[in-house]
Amino acid sequence: MVIIMKAGASAQEVGAVVKHIEQVGMRAHLSQGEERTIIGMVGDERPVDRTVFELMSGVDRVVPILRPYKLASRDFKKDDTVILINGAHGHPIKIGGAPNPIALMAGPCAAETRDQIMESARAVKQAGAHILRGGAYKPRTSPYSFQGHGEDALKWMAEARDTYGLAVVTEVMSPDQVPLVARYADILQIGARNMQNFALLNAVGLSMKPVLLKRGMMSTMEELLMAAEYVLSNGNYNVMLCERGIRTFETYTRNTLDINAVPVLKALSHLPVIVDPSHATGKWEYVTATSKAAVAAGADGLIVEVHPNPALALSDGAQSLTPERYTKLVTQVRRVAEAVDRTI
Ligand code: PEP
Ligand code: MN
Repeated sequence: MVIIMKAGASAQEVGAVVKHIEQVGMRAHLSQGEERTIIGMVGDERPVDRTVFELMSGVDRVVPILRPYKLASRDFKKDDTVILINGAHGHPIKIGGAPNPIALMAGPCAAETRDQIMESARAVKQAGAHILRGGAYKPRTSPYSFQGHGEDALKWMAEARDTYGLAVVTEVMSPDQVPLVARYADILQIGARNMQNFALLNAVGLSMKPVLLKRGMMSTMEELLMAAEYVLSNGNYNVMLCERGIRTFETYTRNTLDINAVPVLKALSHLPVIVDPSHATGKWEYVTATSKAAVAAGADGLIVEVHPNPALALSDGAQSLTPERYTKLVTQVRRVAEAVDRTI
């Protein structure tokens, strides 16, 4: 059960509800939002009489939720969450929920040089993208592979953001990096390898910045939603779920795009669902087809790797589209979007 307090409920009213939760043998989990306090009840709630809580002073409503994730659940919030991103040049970008446009995020795997980022930003903006992606801190399988240019890369992306009127999404790998990355980026990406880094989830939860949470390559949808719950339970409701392919027995593609995740996550949760066809396939040849499938299935956005010269990319060149190919992708995806009553 989740107890939603009225806006402006007093500390005494919240305290009384918490005390009663503990009296009935459950634990209370407080989320102090900017406007109101939400109290999650943790434990077996089946014997609990919810009308007692409904009658308590300061309580707005009580929502029964049997799923392990509460705040991420569609039972908790019927309407799609819409996340407002402050794009450069004062253009707000809304992600999630029709009729808002499908959010297009694109750019290189890693920010390699200032020129490469400026050229990528120019090209993806021209193709129709709203958000520039690029890694400043790269989670590489080998410690000897290129690890990213850190703060320099963040500065290049911030410059590209302001020059071309884009927003920026970039990965943050550890809790101590959060304040620095949050200073430059509009969206904090949690990578697949960090989906269950709970200290990091708490840190981005406290930052209140929009979060793009990638599904772990061996994680179930429920685990993804529980990871989102960590961010939400810190009072940050700006979370996007990202399907980026999971490991299966298939080896021809880098991962297997779990297209099921799109309608399933949208049924289970009110959070926007973004698809990353680049990491899901590992080969640029399949990125356009899987992007179209994702949008047809109901995705709220796409994050696609685009590099001015994929052959020279320091990471993920094989799955990166040239700007020309990305432009064609957007043209085709736009037609699929129209077929499912969405726009770009
Ligand atoms: C990335 O976006 O470049 C990345 C490393 O993605 P993932 O965490 O999904 O592997
Ligand atoms: Mn990559």
